[in-house]
Amino acid sequence: MHARDAIFLEDFCPKVRIREWRQSLHDYTDQSCIYCGSKSESIDHIQPRSRGGLSTTTNCIPACLSCNIQKNDMDVFHWYRRQKSYDPRRAMAIRAWVSGNLTLALQLIRWVKNDMTKDQTKRVAR
Ligand SMILES: [Zn+2]
Repeated sequence: MHARDAIFLEDFCPKVRIREWRQSLHDYTDQSCIYCGSKSESIDHIQPRSRGGLSTTTNCIPACLSCNIQKNDMDVFHWYRRQKSYDPRRAMAIRAWVSGNLTLALQLIRWVKNDMTKDQTKRVAR
């Protein structure tokens, strides 16, 4: 098979490509929800599809089902500010992600995650 045929095949199987792309987003955040840190089980459209939001990496964020369902069509920052899981670093991470700075987004998510792990260790130690 020639390389050109492979590209051709991919065009005929967009579903496979979409699945791979979704998976790559989950891999990026270590399968964790950007809002609360639970296991990410879905892809949330920052700007909802109902309002013309596109399925692009900067508009799609890994989220757990619970956050995804709760957020629904609300403005992400307006909604997230009122969540128990609210953390300014996560809010910054969302802004960074939306503006295409995935590296910064990832750093912020890891920062929060490390603190969460530390808290758990402390609790166990007591
Ligand atoms: Zn969540």
